[in-house]
Amino acid sequence: MTAQRHIPSVDSLLKQPAVSELVNLYGHVWTVEAIRQVLDQLRSSPELCQSLTTDSIIVTLRQKLESQASFSIKPVINATGVLLHTNLGRAPLSEAGFEAIGNLVGAYSNLEFDLSKGSRGNRSIHATQMLKQLLGVESALVVNNNAGAVLLILSALVKGKKVAISRSQLIEIGGGFRIPEVMRQSGAKLYEVGATNRTHLSDYAAALDDGAQMILLAHPSNFKISGFTAQPELHELIDLARQYEVPLVYDLGSGALLDTSAYGIAREPTVQEILAAGADLVCFSGDKLLGGPQSGIIVGRQTLIARLNRHPLYRALRPDKLILITLSAVLLSYLRGKADSEIPLYQMLSRSLDELKQTAQEVLRQLGQGELQEGQSTIGGGSLPEESLPTWLVAFSTPLPEKLCKSLREQQPPVIARIQKNQVVCDLRTIRPKDLPVFTKSLEKALIAIKEKHEK
Ligand SMILES: *Cc1c(COP(=O)(O)O)cnc(C)c1O
Repeated sequence: MTAQRHIPSVDSLLKQPAVSELVNLYGHVWTVEAIRQVLDQLRSSPELCQSLTTDSIIVTLRQKLESQASFSIKPVINATGVLLHTNLGRAPLSEAGFEAIGNLVGAYSNLEFDLSKGSRGNRSIHATQMLKQLLGVESALVVNNNAGAVLLILSALVKGKKVAISRSQLIEIGGGFRIPEVMRQSGAKLYEVGATNRTHLSDYAAALDDGAQMILLAHPSNFKISGFTAQPELHELIDLARQYEVPLVYDLGSGALLDTSAYGIAREPTVQEILAAGADLVCFSGDKLLGGPQSGIIVGRQTLIARLNRHPLYRALRPDKLILITLSAVLLSYLRGKADSEIPLYQMLSRSLDELKQTAQEVLRQLGQGELQEGQSTIGGGSLPEESLPTWLVAFSTPLPEKLCKSLREQQPPVIARIQKNQVVCDLRTIRPKDLPVFTKSLEKALIAIKEKHEK
């Protein structure tokens, strides 16, 4: 306890030139608070006071302030092999996307200003023009995310009215998004048709006869029903909707514009083919298979989109300029026919097994430990359930795999790996080639750290 007498006072620390520097950097209030925290810590653990010097206190103080003042959102290396990892920010943005942010966000822009007229413009026009060109649609609107898109469509078009939806499509997406609950929020009345496994055209017709004012289709993006099942063909439903003069709205979820079967995975319905079949509105996420920023994209008939645009909820759901700028950059890649080479999601899907194997071997050679293994990468992000594509892994056997994973997460930048059959495995497919040197270094450090702990 005597050591506690050596703990300096807040005031005496503030008189130190090194601490004045910290006050300059972080401000008086923040620095004093950090000093109190450091001193409290010392008081509560006398063993720390044994080798106490003013300098060592200042070092701790500086580290504390540096860590408090740094971003808590930071880059991580995704070694999980899940391409659209919802916890790791879903789709990574293309180079073109962040160049566009760099150029535009620090400056003023014509986001909502019509340069030819010199008066107020419309922020949605930029993405809308590109989506019209890309998809040949009458109109388009962008909101913050696809959950918002569904909410806006239902609120603006069918509040207080019945909406026919198959019992097989009352889906839940991760993060608490459930179609029946979103419907309730919007004020639309859920009109369930069919059975969980089988729904027929006549079920929809009966609902429309009973006054349903919309057919809503929700793509089962994150699960599969198989066995004794039935769903009417899309074109039959579209004919039915026309006959009753009600809109058919398709919540497509993943929003693939490219044919995913070209990458060795199952074919997702594309936005283009749903539009070509005649759906009145289609909505989808910007950060799933499109490979862009978090956003909800609604495309289709001009008359319907105009009603969405006028609805007060659009004001609450409208996207920020960061979204509109990055989405424009991503759409431009599609327009230029360069999506598969420029968008990280498609770059990762395109990586060859040979390239992945060579990369894995090189990592193992540098580490001098671990083993090469075949594995499977998955799409994630609630897209293409059960679909995976072959990949190469580097695997490490250790008595406590959780410890190695934890140590990997403590590296700068943190590496997120997974445990498989009691081994720690890292999938090379989701690691950007430019991150390989730091990935290898972090692995090396983490392996040394757990070995030291083990030996202690
Ligand atoms: C993912 C998904 C949503 C929600 O989209 P967010 O962009 O995450 O809000 C809605 N409907 C379907 C069918 C989905 O797959």
